[in-house]
Amino acid sequence: MKCNCEQSLKLELRTVKYSRSVTIRHVPVLVCDQCMTYELIPSMRSDLKRCIDLLGSDPGKTSFSMTDHHELAGVIYDVLADEDCPDDRLHAKFEDEIEGRINLLLDMYRLAEGMRDDQWVSDIRQRLSQLSVILPEMNVFHADV
Ligand SMILES: [Zn+2]
Repeated sequence: MKCNCEQSLKLELRTVKYSRSVTIRHVPVLVCDQCMTYELIPSMRSDLKRCIDLLGSDPGKTSFSMTDHHELAGVIYDVLADEDCPDDRLHAKFEDEIEGRINLLLDMYRLAEGMRDDQWVSDIRQRLSQLSVILPEMNVFHADV
């Protein structure tokens, strides 16, 4: 994926100050070193907004990690945190992690369904959807190739 300036975008986790009182950690963003700009991953926008809406209209001083609210942010965190992983393996590792996470969620899904726990089922469904929309946008680990 490229910026308007043709520079390849890099995937990073940033701490974003949403307002004077609200700080969000580990937000996956696409960064252009050249323009010094960054933007949210498109599929994450609605989930980030939902998290902020949950805080209400006048939140006190608060900070949270996107990894607690979004499966994809969690996977990206795990991949980037592995300092032993060479850059050219990052994309493969990312795909492995996604697949592993989806399989885990599917196991939980069957369990939750067996227990007829509707709340849990819908929670898992949402977490699965967070992982399923992203792959086309995700060609950023390969940025320099
Ligand atoms: Zn740029």
